[in-house]
Amino acid sequence: MKLKIILLSIGTLFLGASSQLHKGDEIVQVATLSALLDGQYDGKIPYARLKKMGDFGVGTFDQLDGEMVALDGEFFQIKSDGIVYPVKNGIKAPFADLTFFEADQTENINTPLNYAQLRDRLLDLLPDENHYYAIRVSGRFGQVQTRSVHKQQKPYPYPLLSEAVAQQEVFDYEDIEGTMVGTYMPESASGVGVAGFHFHFISKDKKRGGHLLDCNFEQVKIAIDHTSGLRLLKNARNYN
Ligand SMILES: [Zn+2]
Repeated sequence: MKLKIILLSIGTLFLGASSQLHKGDEIVQVATLSALLDGQYDGKIPYARLKKMGDFGVGTFDQLDGEMVALDGEFFQIKSDGIVYPVKNGIKAPFADLTFFEADQTENINTPLNYAQLRDRLLDLLPDENHYYAIRVSGRFGQVQTRSVHKQQKPYPYPLLSEAVAQQEVFDYEDIEGTMVGTYMPESASGVGVAGFHFHFISKDKKRGGHLLDCNFEQVKIAIDHTSGLRLLKNARNYN
């Protein structure tokens, strides 16, 4: 069967000289955040395909079964039991953001910061608040708080995402090495993607993680990928 793939480009697809761009410079996204907020938890694109669309990113799973982190080409599923599982190729994503991460900008932080202060610092570092970035923050964290969501059962859309998240499992970790994996999207992307910062966390030993709620640290390394924009996989149902 011939796959008909419709790609809808959003935001600025080309930044600077096109010769500097290559495959994987953009953030590829499965579906929209509004769809997920409306309770559309059915997976749309199998991770077997998504693993070819990026080596870095965040997302979730069919029936909202946990939080996804992709780092250096490894894909992880943090379920509501707090355990980190490798992502099976057959499982599908109802929502995910992926890119091939290449650092365009790095910064070492050597002063204690909490999560709010980190976001302020990142805003100072970003060249343009109206653009799309992939961001990794790695090092030893004094404290990390993550969450994961419970697998939902049909019929959807209830509970809506806001209600499902209210029943989230929260995990607190202290003195933990790991990496924050995430994106920054501009206010204009609100509803399409997550406007502002959205981070997931994976520990260095790959045993802990989840959607990041809070953190603090004394020393980390920030790497920022200036992406070429956001590409929405519109007809997600055509991917099998
Ligand atoms: Zn998340």
